[in-house]
Amino acid sequence: MAYTREDWEAAKADLMSIEKERLALLEPTSKAYAAACHRLDEIEDDLPESTGRCEGCDKPIFEGDPHYNYADGVTTCGNCAPMLSELVDQYKQYSRSAVAVYEELGFETSEEVIKAAESLELDLQENGDRRLLASYLED
Ligand SMILES: [Zn+2]
Repeated sequence: MAYTREDWEAAKADLMSIEKERLALLEPTSKAYAAACHRLDEIEDDLPESTGRCEGCDKPIFEGDPHYNYADGVTTCGNCAPMLSELVDQYKQYSRSAVAVYEELGFETSEEVIKAAESLELDLQENGDRRLLASYLED
């Protein structure tokens, strides 16, 4: 069924009327909300330089916090860190990929990616699955 201009105008008027109600509901908290946003910005702007950022959830990663560094330089917090099994799947895909991704991952050759995939898989078989909370492949 094709909608008419009248259908659109009625739907738009409904939406605008609900939008007014929503803004009225938010109004009592708007000053406190703005102040809380400002405070958080202030703190985030002045964190120690050694503080990182999770690329998964944007949470600051303080020195000593559990985290994970991917080979391509992406860092995640402990909650967003990958499981070993996820990394094994990822590296298996990389090593089968026709596109050379090894440079983006910080490897010199595609053979190194294949070796890393094999080594991760062996670790998974021998030690079981777990969340990776250290700089796993950087050593
Ligand atoms: Zn995170």
